[in-house]
Amino acid sequence: MLGAVPDRYSWSGGEIGFDTYFSMARGNASVPAMEMTKWFDTNYHYIVPELGPNTKFSYASHKAVTEYKEAKALGVDTVPVLIGPVTYLLFSKPAKGVEKSFCTLSLLDRILPIYKEVIAELKAAGATWIQLDEPTLVKDLDSKQLDAFSKAYSELESSLSGLNVVVETYFADVPAEAYKTLTSLNGVTGFGFDLVRGTNTIEHIKSSFPAGKYLFAGVVDGRNIWANDLAASLTILQALEPVVGKDKLVVSTSCSLMHTAVDLVNETKLDDEIKSWLAFAAQKVVEVNALAKALTGTKDEAFFSSNAAALASRRSSPRVTNEEVQKAATALKGSDHRRATPVSARLNAQQKNLNLPILPTTTIGSFPQTVELRRVRREYKANKISEENYITAIKEEISKVVKLQEELDIDVLVHGEPERNDMVEYFGEQLSGFAFTANGWVQSYGSRCVKPPIIYGDVSRPKPMTVFWSKMAQSMTSRPMKGMLTGPVTILNWSFVRNDQPRFQTCYQIALAIKKEVEDLEAGGIQVIQIDEAALREGLPLRKAEHAFYLDWAVHSFRITNCGIKDTTQIHTHMCYSNFNDIIQSIIDMDADVITIENSRSDEKLLSVFRDGVKYGAGIGPGVYDIHSPRIPSTEEIADRVNKMLAVLDTNVLWVNPDCGLKTRKYNEVNPALTNMVSAAKLIRTQL
Ligand code: GLN
Ligand code: ZN
Repeated sequence: MLGAVPDRYSWSGGEIGFDTYFSMARGNASVPAMEMTKWFDTNYHYIVPELGPNTKFSYASHKAVTEYKEAKALGVDTVPVLIGPVTYLLFSKPAKGVEKSFCTLSLLDRILPIYKEVIAELKAAGATWIQLDEPTLVKDLDSKQLDAFSKAYSELESSLSGLNVVVETYFADVPAEAYKTLTSLNGVTGFGFDLVRGTNTIEHIKSSFPAGKYLFAGVVDGRNIWANDLAASLTILQALEPVVGKDKLVVSTSCSLMHTAVDLVNETKLDDEIKSWLAFAAQKVVEVNALAKALTGTKDEAFFSSNAAALASRRSSPRVTNEEVQKAATALKGSDHRRATPVSARLNAQQKNLNLPILPTTTIGSFPQTVELRRVRREYKANKISEENYITAIKEEISKVVKLQEELDIDVLVHGEPERNDMVEYFGEQLSGFAFTANGWVQSYGSRCVKPPIIYGDVSRPKPMTVFWSKMAQSMTSRPMKGMLTGPVTILNWSFVRNDQPRFQTCYQIALAIKKEVEDLEAGGIQVIQIDEAALREGLPLRKAEHAFYLDWAVHSFRITNCGIKDTTQIHTHMCYSNFNDIIQSIIDMDADVITIENSRSDEKLLSVFRDGVKYGAGIGPGVYDIHSPRIPSTEEIADRVNKMLAVLDTNVLWVNPDCGLKTRKYNEVNPALTNMVSAAKLIRTQL
């Protein structure tokens, strides 16, 4: 909309087209894509604007106006939603070549004229309300950043006059200072809050809310799939009514509904009991309406009582509560769980067994998922092939992957994960307390969606989940075979979680289930076990004050999974994002023997931590090449990377591995890339 297209896309101005959009978002043959990153703590991603003093802004996309008109022509008067100007700038970054200290907020005066143009067009098209999203207001902001909001909206005030304008926030409460700034903005007639996650905000509203303004009360959870507690929401709304005035209270969802599943009617396989506990986007809209009607005195008693009955059944269902699990998880809270021997001594004990060369090579777990493999899994699931045939097919695949790794001369092998569709779903399907949707997709980026499992009850592990396959794979080779598990924090963060107990409680339960699996793998003769925590970083709360508490239980959960094993069993963990510098202490505190970690796309951000003197005594494998790209890295390039790591890390802790699993690649990419990776490791070994 603002025409902030980096020069490298050679855009010529005018109305921006899909070709330029796609190049910016996904790259093209000659130009790489822009950075993509997570939108707050959701699984949705946005493309990070690259700005600098020379960025030229122009009104380049009339999408908001065109879509408003399109809906209107169909008889629907919508509220157009724009990202607010300050959030836009705060979520941008200095372009390459621009000073890192460049403050994107300094561009405010240059983008506001375009906002004015858009607003004028919307007004001319007949819009009576518009919504500006300023969710950065829930983050830790300094006074200069808060001032930018006041400045921006004063500047927009005259353009906004004659319109109703709601500034919307979401995903957390709005801190006291930000609340003051927000509710004093000029030109704004309504304020929106997430009252599900932002329970403190309710107190701010009660103690002061500007007279004559609208309150958009987000009482229906847009981030989860549970049916609303209508009676409780109504109580909240009724308490707010006298504060803001009957005609100024708007019932709303806590945030956009793009972060939840779409429609429960598409779930024909979920049983009726669980279904009665849920509300997807379509059902949430009905809840919002029912609450609004109840406020105006036309309460649908039947709807409210069936909601109360569903909630009561959820509370008392024996499928939800497992006393034994509850007790075991509660018992964990106060105490510490940590392997008794320090990591350096453990590594020595392990090395005696494993006898690995220096700079040992390994991969992250998955090997390419071929069309044939997907077919086998699909047909087995649909009962079209027998269990016996399925096992034969998977066994054959594992054997191929093992042979390939032996030929490549990789030191610590993996079985390739051919039996897994997804690293969370695979475990969820075998744990109790989980339900699965057929169509509960949530957009992640572009046309990519994820289908998070639903954790509805206490989690336990009825029987071993991976031991059969890992033992089979180990029997095929004399080299160490990694057992491959998904960690509790990642299972939690990539699921729809219960809202009837704290997240940490659910996480501890999952940790206990994974602990059993770790112990069974060890008993089955597996000497190296990798517990992936790909999503540990992304679960970090939005505000710093809450980081310590989260990291404490998250790291504790990880340690619970392996606190009881022998010194000689080597625990690996893996993480996919390179943004670790701020949580490095917690990573060390996870006390894994080896961590493999994404590194290659991050301009060595990770290595700078060690350059700055952080002591890391455990094994570490910063990824030596990017598996998201079909590009094949050369031996020299990989060797160069490894040498850079050796400059900051000890020779005896460094591992050599790709950035992440190879699932999305093809064998004609994986074979040469891994060949070069092993050659690079061997080359450097001779030079040390
Ligand atoms: N073990 C998983 C794999 O290799 C890890 C995936 C991930 O980190 N996202 O596919
Ligand atoms: Zn990964």
